[in-house]
Amino acid sequence: KAKMEGRGTCRSFEPGMDARLQERRLLEAELALAVAQDQFVLHYQPLHDAKTSKLTGFEALVRWNHPRLGLLPPGEFIQLAEETGVIEGLGEWIMRQACADAASWPQPVKIAVNLSPAQFKQQGLPLQVASALATSNLLPSRLELEITESVLLAHNEHTIQTLHGLRDLGVSIAMDDFGTGYSSLSYLRSFPFDRIKIDRSFVSLMCESSESRAIVKAVAELGSTLGMTTTAEGVETQDQYLLVRENGCTDVQGWLFGRPMPASQLHVLFEQHAALTA
Ligand code: C2E
Ligand code: MG
Ligand code: MG
Ligand code: MG
Repeated sequence: KAKMEGRGTCRSFEPGMDARLQERRLLEAELALAVAQDQFVLHYQPLHDAKTSKLTGFEALVRWNHPRLGLLPPGEFIQLAEETGVIEGLGEWIMRQACADAASWPQPVKIAVNLSPAQFKQQGLPLQVASALATSNLLPSRLELEITESVLLAHNEHTIQTLHGLRDLGVSIAMDDFGTGYSSLSYLRSFPFDRIKIDRSFVSLMCESSESRAIVKAVAELGSTLGMTTTAEGVETQDQYLLVRENGCTDVQGWLFGRPMPASQLHVLFEQHAALTA
């Protein structure tokens, strides 16, 4: 097409487009093989009780240990995995690995696992989760599944049925990144979530913005009224921690408490936790 337009400006733009397209195709091909080649790893970020600051669990966050590009964050491949269907196998691997890791922990804290919209299109999602729980021998009450508003965007009977099917296994369900979607409030009506995770964008502005403080406070109150716990995401500073606690968030997560880390490094946090609760 650029050739037909025949302009130098177009031609000079073309190589960049080609390179990006080629890189995407290459990444796509590599992604298709990456599950079988065992290139994914789960990192775990600690979750803490806001009042006592005690460890309550970990969120599993996937990374791709890419042979050419190094450790890639999910922002660089999850969407591609969704578009290409790779997420089905990847999602199942994540679920099994997270449950197995959690079952081996020295303390029975929670494990939170993210589910993407494409995983909800699978018929057998509750069965897959049940199988991961059974194989790992993890108590269902220790597993929490996080969904974003995008799962409910394609809101239909099947999605809600699947959520109930998951809940019936005894796992809990959290609404992730709350407040960033088009219709956050109405989603709270569609399913009785156990937890609301307030998006980092509200938390990060709390110190300078009274509007953000008011929003976090209102969401925490709403959660409390609806019987849902509320986690403040992305707590990076002591001031933010004090503010989210003061405004009613029941749990906290963020760099102030710990970055996502490999499973092999969790023992340090478990030892601290054991010392605190002894
Ligand atoms: P999320 O579920 O909302 O996860 C929290 C993200 O915020 C993580 O980014 C985490 O590293 C980051 N974060 C946590 N605390 C702080 C903080 O104090 N400051 C800042 N700046 N960032 C913080 P990550 O690991 O890059 O994951 C990004 C997103 O990718 C996740 O957002 C989730 O939507 C998706 N994702 C991650 N792992 C999985 C997975 O296993 N399956 C699926 N389907 N999606 C995943
Ligand atoms: Mg999450
Ligand atoms: Mg989140
Ligand atoms: Mg997020």
